[in-house]
Amino acid sequence: MLPTKASRRRFLRQSTTAATGLLLAPGLVACGARSAPATDPAPASPPPSADDRKLGVALLGLGGYAKGQIAPALQLTQHCELRGLITGSPDKLPEWQDRYGVADENCYTYDRMEDIADNDAIDIIYVITPTATHRDFAVRAAAAGKHVWCEKPMAMTPAQCQEIIDACTEQGVQLAIGYRMLHEPNTRQLIQLTKDRTYGALTSARSYAGYAGSPPPADYWRGQRDMGGGALYDMGVYTVNGLRYGTQLSPAAVVRATQQRQDRPNGVDLTTTYTLRYPDGMLAEGKTSVVEKYNELHIEAENGWYEMQPMQPYQGVKGKTSDGKVLGPPVPNQQSLQMDDDALAIRNGTQPIAPGSMGKADIAVIRAIIESAETGKEVQIAS
Ligand code: NAD
Repeated sequence: MLPTKASRRRFLRQSTTAATGLLLAPGLVACGARSAPATDPAPASPPPSADDRKLGVALLGLGGYAKGQIAPALQLTQHCELRGLITGSPDKLPEWQDRYGVADENCYTYDRMEDIADNDAIDIIYVITPTATHRDFAVRAAAAGKHVWCEKPMAMTPAQCQEIIDACTEQGVQLAIGYRMLHEPNTRQLIQLTKDRTYGALTSARSYAGYAGSPPPADYWRGQRDMGGGALYDMGVYTVNGLRYGTQLSPAAVVRATQQRQDRPNGVDLTTTYTLRYPDGMLAEGKTSVVEKYNELHIEAENGWYEMQPMQPYQGVKGKTSDGKVLGPPVPNQQSLQMDDDALAIRNGTQPIAPGSMGKADIAVIRAIIESAETGKEVQIAS
């Protein structure tokens, strides 16, 4: 048995002091480090125990990513397993239950999801719905006393992200964002090159993620601005987070940005470009699209360069360096690595690799990019 909500709260009180000793230096992110800024919920579980039961995950939202990637990946995990389903379309349940052997008592509709509070089989709720719905679902999941995993982008605004962080802190549950690249071993090699300054001080960076698709239709959430559709939220968050883990720095300002938008009410951006400036003056270029194909994260340093190309597909992420090193080879399922890392963080009471503060910081960058594109001006990024 995992700790009850009450025991987690007790642990949260006890761990607050300890957590304050783990703060990162300003401007650094928590990639691979088991620490995070003060805005994150404190580690919310007790120290390791003899209990090695797999943690039970309930998927909230049974759409394309849950069905195509996350549920299959949960068949490969060692520290957690698919045990519950939460949906607005109960007609989907029989097929899911048959395929994954999910018990009736672990299935919920959105309007009854609060009942999950009494279900000890479920430890974690993984929110995998359209971006504009993340805040409400994540807050409700935390209120039910369950640990929260939330897909990227974390929410629509930094204020919404903070609401999720606050709800998790209040309930003494963990919060992790579904940034799968941070768990991908080849990407972690690139991160280590930056941390070690293997090629000297960084001088510039670029981060591009786009695919040559069709403009999303108006009646689908990916075609609606207020639902979190469009290139910048959906794909661009990979470029923003890529620059964060690739440089291990937080940008200070958006120098300039452009957005090519659909010509219709509520039409989303099809392509967005942006330039970030860091506190030391270094510049980075970002580009994202749902109609143009590119995929790379490139870091220039004083004594060489290194890059991931492609930087964020589900499979085949690989990289190289200016002196011929290969950042490879192909690695096992990214999502199962992500969920096992996040399950172990819960079990061990350590900070997750992608905490809520990181998700929030990326949304602050996205909002600043939008503001810069709309005003034509440089925009400072709120910290
Ligand atoms: P999808 O359209 O395939 O599925 C969305 C699901 O949410 C559907 O089951 C839908 O019924 C449900 N839903 C709940 N509330 C809804 C509402 N108000 N309006 C519309 N649908 C609602 O989308 P998806 O591709 O599964 O994406 C879901 C989330 O996962 C998004 O946040 C997306 O950014 C993220 N995602 C992440 C990755 C990754 O690699 N980390 C990949 C794909 C999607």
